[in-house]
Amino acid sequence: MTSLEKVSGKKEMMAIMEQAKKDGKKHISFSEFDLFNKCGHKHLVFKHLALETEPPSIHLAFGDAIHASIERTIEDSLGLQNRIDFFRERFRKNMDDTMKGEPAYSEMDDFMGQGCNILSMIDFEALLRDYEVVAVEEPLYQHIYGNFYFKGFIDLVLKHKTTGRYLILDWKTSTVAWILKYKLADVVFLMQMKLYKYFWARKHDVNLSKIDVKYMVLNRLADKKNPKKGYGELQEVSMTSAQSEVRDALELVAKTIKSIHLDKKFPKAKFVLDEYGRIQNDKSGRPLVDDKPCMFCKLKGGKHPLCNSNIDQDQTLLAEHAAVPKMGK
Ligand code: SF4
Repeated sequence: MTSLEKVSGKKEMMAIMEQAKKDGKKHISFSEFDLFNKCGHKHLVFKHLALETEPPSIHLAFGDAIHASIERTIEDSLGLQNRIDFFRERFRKNMDDTMKGEPAYSEMDDFMGQGCNILSMIDFEALLRDYEVVAVEEPLYQHIYGNFYFKGFIDLVLKHKTTGRYLILDWKTSTVAWILKYKLADVVFLMQMKLYKYFWARKHDVNLSKIDVKYMVLNRLADKKNPKKGYGELQEVSMTSAQSEVRDALELVAKTIKSIHLDKKFPKAKFVLDEYGRIQNDKSGRPLVDDKPCMFCKLKGGKHPLCNSNIDQDQTLLAEHAAVPKMGK
């Protein structure tokens, strides 16, 4: 698709995926790319071989309901009450489908109030006063090299009515406001918008210099440790996306695909590396381990059979499970 008419993409992506499957294409999404670069072994276990699954979470149920409500608001010009009603219904259904019986189910009413506040905070009229909507939930399925494609959805693309500049927006639900110095240090996470910008520009033959990118961070709370301080605020975070940054992101995507599919190497995040990327050993010759990157991992602690202290466990798992890749299926 090369025209810039307003599109809504779920059906378009389904058709693309069906055809891609017939053609034997493989893809990588941004979340897979991010996962691999945070911990290759986690990618191997949860995605590539699919030996484990992430547990459902109230945050996922919430984020999906907020995104769906915003999408519907823009596509169908929903007023505030309809937008909130849509969110409430979707969030309740998500929770009933995935979280019934879990301790976090009891937090649903708190999240419900926070979600309604987020939807009241976004001033859609003001946002669309200066911009026309180009695309909502636009699918990307763009060639990288060989048989590999980049897959993603862009939340919102706008075009400024007077300057003609494009703005790519990504909605991020968050517990509290981003602390920018930490976010800006997460180089891989920030590559998302650079990749979306590049592949969207290429899909539509638009010059990269005419596109801006921005995160809209939708914060539930003002203070995580003290919810009594009230609801959070909307935070707009404009991102830099110079050509050199886009090139760095593309190079890392190519390297990631090579590691997964050609080299078949899935390094563990917990091993400490030196400046040349080599694993460091302690005095007795055992690999040095730092568990900080493992904080939110189900396999943390060194006792889980799917992530022990063996450096080459990825090779063992690949051999045991006959390396049937799930990625891109
Ligand atoms: S425990 Fe750490 S090293 Fe092991 S898979 Fe999880 S993040 Fe990776």
